[in-house]
Amino acid sequence: MKKDQLLTRRRVLLAGAGAAGAAATAGVFAAVTGGGPTGTVPAAGPQVRRPLNSSAYRLQPLTGYGPPHAAPRRTLVRRAPLLRFSGRGRHMVLTFDDGPDPRYTPAVLDTLAKYDVRAMFFVCGGMVADNRELLARMAEEGHVVGNHTWSHPLLTRLTRRGIRSEMERTCDVIEDAYGERPEWFRAPYGAWNRTAFRLGAELGMESLAWTVDTLDWTTPGTRSIVRRVENGAAPGVVVLSHDAGGDRSQSVRALRRYLPELLDAGYHVSVPRRHYE
Ligand SMILES: [Zn+2]
Repeated sequence: MKKDQLLTRRRVLLAGAGAAGAAATAGVFAAVTGGGPTGTVPAAGPQVRRPLNSSAYRLQPLTGYGPPHAAPRRTLVRRAPLLRFSGRGRHMVLTFDDGPDPRYTPAVLDTLAKYDVRAMFFVCGGMVADNRELLARMAEEGHVVGNHTWSHPLLTRLTRRGIRSEMERTCDVIEDAYGERPEWFRAPYGAWNRTAFRLGAELGMESLAWTVDTLDWTTPGTRSIVRRVENGAAPGVVVLSHDAGGDRSQSVRALRRYLPELLDAGYHVSVPRRHYE
Protein backbone atom coordinates (compact mmCIF):
# COMPACT_ATOMS: atom_id res chain seq x y z
CA MET A 1 0.00 0.00 0.00
CA LYS A 2 2.79 2.33 0.98
CA LYS A 3 4.58 1.87 -2.29
CA ASP A 4 1.67 3.11 -4.38
CA GLN A 5 1.38 6.20 -2.26
CA LEU A 6 5.06 6.85 -2.59
CA LEU A 7 5.00 6.40 -6.31
CA THR A 8 2.09 8.77 -6.54
CA ARG A 9 3.89 11.33 -4.48
CA ARG A 10 6.93 10.95 -6.65
CA ARG A 11 4.86 11.55 -9.73
CA VAL A 12 3.35 14.65 -8.19
CA LEU A 13 6.82 15.92 -7.37
CA LEU A 14 8.01 15.37 -10.89
CA ALA A 15 4.92 16.89 -12.41
CA GLY A 16 5.16 19.78 -10.01
CA ALA A 17 8.60 20.94 -11.01
CA GLY A 18 7.98 24.33 -12.48
CA ALA A 19 4.24 23.93 -12.52
CA ALA A 20 1.40 24.50 -10.14
CA GLY A 21 1.19 20.80 -9.41
CA ALA A 22 3.72 21.20 -6.65
CA ALA A 23 1.07 22.95 -4.60
CA ALA A 24 -0.53 19.59 -4.10
CA THR A 25 2.44 18.33 -2.15
CA ALA A 26 3.27 19.05 1.43
CA GLY A 27 5.83 21.55 2.53
CA VAL A 28 4.99 24.78 0.84
CA PHE A 29 6.57 27.99 2.02
CA ALA A 30 5.58 31.48 1.17
CA ALA A 31 9.04 32.91 0.83
CA VAL A 32 12.68 32.54 1.58
CA THR A 33 14.75 35.20 3.26
CA GLY A 34 18.31 35.74 4.26
CA GLY A 35 21.08 37.67 2.66
CA GLY A 36 19.81 37.65 -0.87
CA PRO A 37 20.30 40.59 -3.17
CA THR A 38 16.61 41.42 -3.13
CA GLY A 39 16.11 40.66 0.53
CA THR A 40 13.08 38.53 -0.11
CA VAL A 41 13.01 35.83 -2.70
CA PRO A 42 10.17 33.41 -3.19
CA ALA A 43 11.28 29.85 -2.68
CA ALA A 44 8.21 27.83 -3.08
CA GLY A 45 4.50 27.58 -2.91
CA PRO A 46 3.02 28.19 -6.31
CA GLN A 47 -0.25 29.10 -4.64
CA VAL A 48 1.40 32.23 -3.31
CA ARG A 49 0.83 34.73 -6.05
CA ARG A 50 1.39 37.91 -4.17
CA PRO A 51 4.86 39.38 -3.83
CA LEU A 52 5.49 39.87 -0.15
CA ASN A 53 7.90 42.67 -0.55
CA SER A 54 9.39 45.49 -2.57
CA SER A 55 9.58 46.59 -6.15
CA ALA A 56 12.97 44.94 -6.54
CA TYR A 57 11.07 41.72 -6.31
CA ARG A 58 9.33 42.54 -9.55
CA LEU A 59 12.63 42.69 -11.35
CA GLN A 60 12.80 38.97 -10.83
CA PRO A 61 9.61 37.56 -12.28
CA LEU A 62 8.97 34.10 -11.00
CA THR A 63 6.37 31.43 -11.26
CA GLY A 64 2.96 32.95 -11.48
CA TYR A 65 4.20 35.98 -13.36
CA GLY A 66 5.57 34.47 -16.51
CA PRO A 67 5.25 31.28 -18.45
CA PRO A 68 6.06 28.41 -16.14
CA HIS A 69 7.39 26.23 -18.90
CA ALA A 70 9.87 26.74 -21.70
CA ALA A 71 11.64 29.69 -20.12
CA PRO A 72 15.15 28.83 -18.93
CA ARG A 73 15.58 28.56 -15.24
CA ARG A 74 17.65 31.26 -13.64
CA THR A 75 19.05 31.45 -10.16
CA LEU A 76 20.13 34.59 -8.40
CA VAL A 77 23.78 35.01 -7.57
CA ARG A 78 23.80 35.56 -3.84
CA ARG A 79 26.34 37.12 -1.54
CA ALA A 80 25.28 35.05 1.42
CA PRO A 81 23.43 31.77 1.63
CA LEU A 82 19.85 31.45 2.76
CA LEU A 83 19.68 30.68 6.45
CA ARG A 84 16.01 30.09 7.01
CA PHE A 85 12.62 30.20 5.38
CA SER A 86 9.89 32.62 6.15
CA GLY A 87 6.31 32.05 5.37
CA ARG A 88 3.07 30.93 6.75
CA GLY A 89 2.73 28.37 9.44
CA ARG A 90 5.07 26.48 11.66
CA HIS A 91 7.30 24.87 9.06
CA MET A 92 10.71 23.50 9.81
CA VAL A 93 13.27 21.93 7.51
CA LEU A 94 15.55 19.09 8.56
CA THR A 95 18.79 18.69 6.61
CA PHE A 96 21.31 15.86 6.72
CA ASP A 97 24.80 16.40 5.32
CA ASP A 98 27.80 14.46 4.04
CA GLY A 99 26.02 11.20 3.14
CA PRO A 100 24.73 8.94 2.04
CA ASP A 101 26.24 6.38 4.40
CA PRO A 102 24.77 2.87 4.43
CA ARG A 103 25.41 2.66 8.18
CA TYR A 104 23.18 5.61 9.11
CA THR A 105 21.19 6.97 6.19
CA PRO A 106 18.74 4.04 6.04
CA ALA A 107 17.88 4.55 9.73
CA VAL A 108 17.29 8.27 9.12
CA LEU A 109 15.07 7.43 6.17
CA ASP A 110 13.17 4.85 8.24
CA THR A 111 12.40 7.43 10.92
CA LEU A 112 11.31 10.03 8.38
CA ALA A 113 9.07 7.41 6.75
CA LYS A 114 7.60 6.39 10.07
CA TYR A 115 6.32 9.93 10.61
CA ASP A 116 5.64 10.52 6.92
CA VAL A 117 7.82 13.64 6.65
CA ARG A 118 10.25 14.80 3.97
CA ALA A 119 13.75 16.16 4.57
CA MET A 120 16.75 17.46 2.62
CA PHE A 121 19.95 15.50 2.12
CA PHE A 122 23.04 17.43 1.09
CA VAL A 123 25.07 14.61 -0.35
CA CYS A 124 28.70 14.30 -1.40
CA GLY A 125 29.23 12.95 -4.89
CA GLY A 126 31.92 10.55 -3.75
CA MET A 127 29.50 9.00 -1.27
CA VAL A 128 26.73 8.82 -3.85
CA ALA A 129 28.94 6.94 -6.27
CA ASP A 130 29.11 4.02 -3.81
CA ASN A 131 25.54 4.22 -2.56
CA ARG A 132 23.32 5.05 -5.49
CA GLU A 133 20.47 2.92 -4.20
CA LEU A 134 20.10 5.26 -1.23
CA LEU A 135 19.51 8.19 -3.57
CA ALA A 136 16.96 6.14 -5.45
CA ARG A 137 15.22 5.56 -2.14
CA MET A 138 15.31 9.29 -1.33
CA ALA A 139 13.69 10.00 -4.67
CA GLU A 140 11.12 7.30 -4.17
CA GLU A 141 10.21 8.65 -0.74
CA GLY A 142 9.97 12.28 -1.81
CA HIS A 143 13.06 13.73 -0.15
CA VAL A 144 15.05 16.59 -1.65
CA VAL A 145 18.69 15.96 -2.52
CA GLY A 146 21.13 18.85 -2.59
CA ASN A 147 24.74 19.13 -3.76
CA HIS A 148 27.41 19.20 -1.02
CA THR A 149 30.40 18.85 -3.42
CA TRP A 150 32.20 15.69 -4.44
CA SER A 151 34.85 15.34 -1.72
CA HIS A 152 33.88 17.92 0.91
CA PRO A 153 36.82 20.31 0.43
CA LEU A 154 37.14 23.83 1.77
CA LEU A 155 36.07 25.57 -1.43
CA THR A 156 37.76 28.82 -0.54
CA ARG A 157 41.11 27.08 -1.05
CA LEU A 158 40.31 25.76 -4.50
CA THR A 159 40.72 27.31 -7.91
CA ARG A 160 37.65 28.23 -9.88
CA ARG A 161 38.24 25.16 -11.96
CA GLY A 162 38.47 22.98 -8.87
CA ILE A 163 35.25 24.36 -7.45
CA ARG A 164 33.47 23.82 -10.74
CA SER A 165 34.62 20.23 -10.91
CA GLU A 166 33.50 19.52 -7.33
CA MET A 167 30.06 20.95 -8.06
CA GLU A 168 29.51 19.67 -11.57
CA ARG A 169 30.53 16.06 -11.00
CA THR A 170 28.20 15.96 -8.02
CA CYS A 171 25.30 17.40 -10.04
CA ASP A 172 25.91 14.66 -12.60
CA VAL A 173 26.02 11.75 -10.18
CA ILE A 174 22.93 13.05 -8.38
CA GLU A 175 21.05 13.29 -11.64
CA ASP A 176 22.09 9.76 -12.43
CA ALA A 177 21.17 8.23 -9.08
CA TYR A 178 18.28 10.46 -7.97
CA GLY A 179 16.72 11.20 -11.33
CA GLU A 180 16.92 14.99 -11.23
CA ARG A 181 19.66 17.55 -11.04
CA PRO A 182 19.97 19.20 -7.62
CA GLU A 183 18.33 22.57 -7.05
CA TRP A 184 20.13 23.32 -3.80
CA PHE A 185 23.77 23.67 -2.86
CA ARG A 186 25.47 23.78 0.51
CA ALA A 187 29.17 24.54 0.78
CA PRO A 188 31.21 22.28 3.06
CA TYR A 189 31.76 23.99 6.43
CA GLY A 190 29.33 26.67 5.29
CA ALA A 191 32.28 28.29 3.51
CA TRP A 192 31.12 29.98 0.34
CA ASN A 193 33.04 32.44 -1.76
CA ARG A 194 31.98 34.50 -4.76
CA THR A 195 32.99 31.80 -7.19
CA ALA A 196 30.95 29.22 -5.32
CA PHE A 197 27.88 31.46 -5.37
CA ARG A 198 28.32 32.23 -9.05
CA LEU A 199 28.94 28.67 -10.16
CA GLY A 200 26.13 27.38 -7.99
CA ALA A 201 23.72 29.80 -9.63
CA GLU A 202 25.07 28.89 -13.06
CA LEU A 203 24.31 25.28 -12.30
CA GLY A 204 20.80 26.23 -11.25
CA MET A 205 21.31 25.74 -7.54
CA GLU A 206 20.13 27.93 -4.70
CA SER A 207 22.50 28.27 -1.74
CA LEU A 208 21.16 27.08 1.58
CA ALA A 209 23.00 27.16 4.89
CA TRP A 210 21.17 26.55 8.18
CA THR A 211 19.66 28.21 11.20
CA VAL A 212 20.27 25.65 13.94
CA ASP A 213 23.48 23.63 14.10
CA THR A 214 22.98 20.50 16.20
CA LEU A 215 26.79 20.14 16.42
CA ASP A 216 26.10 16.42 16.12
CA TRP A 217 29.47 15.94 14.40
CA THR A 218 31.13 16.58 17.76
CA THR A 219 29.19 13.56 19.14
CA PRO A 220 27.99 15.58 22.14
CA GLY A 221 25.47 12.92 23.18
CA THR A 222 21.97 12.20 21.95
CA ARG A 223 20.34 14.38 24.61
CA SER A 224 22.47 17.36 23.67
CA ILE A 225 21.45 17.06 20.02
CA VAL A 226 17.79 16.76 20.96
CA ARG A 227 18.06 19.79 23.23
CA ARG A 228 19.64 21.93 20.53
CA VAL A 229 16.80 21.14 18.15
CA GLU A 230 14.16 21.77 20.81
CA ASN A 231 15.73 25.07 21.85
CA GLY A 232 16.13 26.20 18.26
CA ALA A 233 12.68 25.18 17.06
CA ALA A 234 10.79 28.06 15.47
CA PRO A 235 8.91 28.71 12.24
CA GLY A 236 11.16 28.68 9.19
CA VAL A 237 14.15 27.17 10.94
CA VAL A 238 16.58 24.96 9.01
CA VAL A 239 18.26 22.30 11.18
CA LEU A 240 21.71 20.94 10.33
CA SER A 241 22.58 17.33 11.17
CA HIS A 242 24.80 14.70 9.58
CA ASP A 243 24.13 11.17 8.38
CA ALA A 244 27.77 10.49 7.49
CA GLY A 245 31.35 11.59 8.10
CA GLY A 246 31.87 9.64 11.32
CA ASP A 247 29.86 7.76 13.93
CA ARG A 248 26.39 9.22 13.50
CA SER A 249 24.47 6.88 15.76
CA GLN A 250 23.72 9.78 18.11
CA SER A 251 22.25 11.77 15.23
CA VAL A 252 20.08 8.80 14.30
CA ARG A 253 18.84 8.30 17.87
CA ALA A 254 18.28 12.02 18.39
CA LEU A 255 16.06 12.22 15.30
CA ARG A 256 13.87 9.45 16.71
CA ARG A 257 13.28 11.64 19.77
CA TYR A 258 12.99 15.18 18.44
CA LEU A 259 10.98 14.46 15.32
CA PRO A 260 7.85 13.25 17.15
CA GLU A 261 8.30 16.10 19.62
CA LEU A 262 8.37 18.69 16.85
CA LEU A 263 5.28 17.17 15.27
CA ASP A 264 3.50 17.07 18.63
CA ALA A 265 4.37 20.73 19.10
CA GLY A 266 2.53 21.50 15.87
CA TYR A 267 5.45 21.89 13.50
CA HIS A 268 5.22 20.79 9.90
CA VAL A 269 8.52 19.21 8.93
CA SER A 270 8.87 19.54 5.20
CA VAL A 271 11.03 20.61 2.29
CA PRO A 272 11.17 23.90 0.38
CA ARG A 273 10.25 24.25 -3.24
CA ARG A 274 11.91 26.42 -5.83
CA HIS A 275 10.20 28.82 -8.16
CA TYR A 276 11.08 28.89 -11.81
CA GLU A 277 10.97 31.63 -14.34
ZN1 LIG B 1 29.43 18.78 5.33
